[in-house]
Amino acid sequence: IPDNAPLWLTRLNPPQRDAVLTTDGPVLMLAGAGTGKTAALTARLAWIMANQLAWPSEILAVTFTNKAAREMKERIGAMVGDAVEGMPWMGTFHSIGAKMLRRHAELMGLQSNFTIIDTDDQLRLLKQLIQAQDIDDKRFPAKQLAGLIDGWKNKGLSPADLTPADNEAFANGKGQELYALYQNRLLALNACDFGDLLLHSLNLLKNHRDILEHYQQRFKYILVDEYQDTNAVQYLWLRLLAQKRKNIACVGDDDQSIYSWRGAEVANILRFEKDFPGAKIIKLEQNYRSTPHILGAASGLIGANSTRLGKTLWTELDEGEKVQVIGVWDGPEEARRVGEEIEALQSKYRSPLSDIAILVRAQHQTREFEDRFIQIGLNYKIIGGFRFYERAEIRDAIAYLRIINQPADDLAFERIVNTPKRGIGDKAVEKIHIFARAAGMPLSAAAAAMTGTDEMTGKARKSLSDLMIQIASWREMAGRMPPSQLIGQVLDESGYTDVLQAERSVEASGRLENLSELARAMEDYETLGEFLEHVSLVMDNDAQQGGDQVTIMTIHAAKGLEYKNVFCVGWEEGLFPSQRSLDEGGLASLEEERRLAYVAITRARERCTILHAANRRIYGQWTSSIPSRFIAELPADHIEAQESMSGGASLWRANWTEKGDPFAHLAAANATRAGQRGPGWQRAAASGGFNPVPQRIAENTRSAASFAAKPRADLAV
Ligand code: ATP
Ligand code: MG
Repeated sequence: IPDNAPLWLTRLNPPQRDAVLTTDGPVLMLAGAGTGKTAALTARLAWIMANQLAWPSEILAVTFTNKAAREMKERIGAMVGDAVEGMPWMGTFHSIGAKMLRRHAELMGLQSNFTIIDTDDQLRLLKQLIQAQDIDDKRFPAKQLAGLIDGWKNKGLSPADLTPADNEAFANGKGQELYALYQNRLLALNACDFGDLLLHSLNLLKNHRDILEHYQQRFKYILVDEYQDTNAVQYLWLRLLAQKRKNIACVGDDDQSIYSWRGAEVANILRFEKDFPGAKIIKLEQNYRSTPHILGAASGLIGANSTRLGKTLWTELDEGEKVQVIGVWDGPEEARRVGEEIEALQSKYRSPLSDIAILVRAQHQTREFEDRFIQIGLNYKIIGGFRFYERAEIRDAIAYLRIINQPADDLAFERIVNTPKRGIGDKAVEKIHIFARAAGMPLSAAAAAMTGTDEMTGKARKSLSDLMIQIASWREMAGRMPPSQLIGQVLDESGYTDVLQAERSVEASGRLENLSELARAMEDYETLGEFLEHVSLVMDNDAQQGGDQVTIMTIHAAKGLEYKNVFCVGWEEGLFPSQRSLDEGGLASLEEERRLAYVAITRARERCTILHAANRRIYGQWTSSIPSRFIAELPADHIEAQESMSGGASLWRANWTEKGDPFAHLAAANATRAGQRGPGWQRAAASGGFNPVPQRIAENTRSAASFAAKPRADLAV
């Protein structure tokens, strides 16, 4: 190192410095969480720029999120200052792909001002195409085709590349044709979907030698963060670009590969040495982020995975506090307890709220915390998603409730009149507006009146009439059943549940879970009016954002980030690991869940608290849940377990430190209740709609029991 080396270089440890100074040839930095991979990659970029080894425009740096790109830009700015003008090509694969594509759009049949369409537009287009082919889009929904097309694009497959089996995957052999039609339609519209940004960029390089050579020449240095989560199309694109100069540096951690559901292939890490012979492999083992207890807990946990490269981590930081494992009685108590712990952090350590994160496995889990924090006036924000009551399906459901509660609520009526689609189009709605204005009545009254006149005709008239009859019957029900039951009726009878179920997508089951969570929230209210009052207060609070805030987010969104205090909530079988991973995935998806758990714990710098509840409530039914197997896998030396249950806790005296099976007595107790209770509601919500199916619950309880009786090696249920 030169004598006058800047502090940002001298502060790095020898292997990190190695990664910075080895600027020639391929480098793979493979290391665990918090070992300074991103820090070293950023320093490498700064080093290249500060020493003018390349112009900024000759450097390509890929980050996993736009936020990460912004942060890296800021850091580089602070490191190299004004010495260098301009910034490298820096951003996510998608943003860099878009940039490249705009420059050569005409070669791909587009114009440089092409639009990037969102998921809604994508679905609308696909639906038109499906219907134009005389295929029943109820049996073969657009959403399913969209999922398949995204998957093909993630693999770098154009329509011509599909195998017969791919083709069979949709509408009995129509997949390929529809995919081709869709691509043509997009070109005609001068538009790309998200997947095209990657697929077209790859094909641009593959099919145009001169362009490929230009970029191979141009990018003297390529840097990639979070390499373990690249998918095939991204990998192929990178490999082409780097093939000439081979100055490519990738950093990643196989233990943090958590996006296989989006086509990420951890095997890309293993291929690196083969693709780039002579690559320098750098291992980092010192962790600078977390205390020994946090690190010990995380390392012990991930040790239970069988498919991993394996690595050691150590730290010089002070021992710190053990990881807290807190068992609570139920969901509301979990939220209350986290609120109390946060207040304690504030008073004991003067922690700003920005140092605190709550990590959930599934979006719907945020609701309980949001309600509690609003109640106690704790400022929070949600990253990478909407606040619970802002989500589209929740707003739809609430609009139904509002129009039931208040016939004059025109906004609510407009929102639901054609949601789900029932053939009451814009023209029909316009007619209702005109009628309502002329008669001086609210929209819903006008609509009811119009169904008896000739103003409305055909399908719209029938649908509107059916809807008005339904609304009247829900209004009558509202007077005699609790709101949490009413919502289930409304969503089922309006066809809302059916539409989501027909989609058969991960996203749709997330929405169904959110709706069950809404029903759960409503159980605390006796009348519809009271509940809606609560919602308006919550929404009002949502308007006041900013200031010092606790962060609530999914573990997926937390990748690469760090917080002084981390709360990992809902660590129960069926929630985390998710029921879906237990039902469908076998060992591979269980191991991905475990990697997620590893990512969660390793976000913490000083304090990590894990919570699990003994009971969750859905549709008025209590279901008992078993603590996550991941809790049992945490090494006893690094954790401190406590129970804080407001009643009936004896069942939960799990002794974490004792060896043997901590679940046996729980599973046995649980099995006796099969049929009435069981931790299966998440799955019921995900796949069974609004009526939890008893045998599903029983089935699920059995699977939990059999899991408890098995040795670790074949945990996959
Ligand atoms: P992840 O796998 O979670 O993405 P990472 O390996 O990218 O983690 P970084 O985020 O780069 O790790 O670094 C973790 C923390 O350690 C950061 O706060 C960073 O500033 C600090 N750090 C990194 N390298 C050093 C070093 N050599 N000396 C002191 N602190 C360091
Ligand atoms: Mg990182």
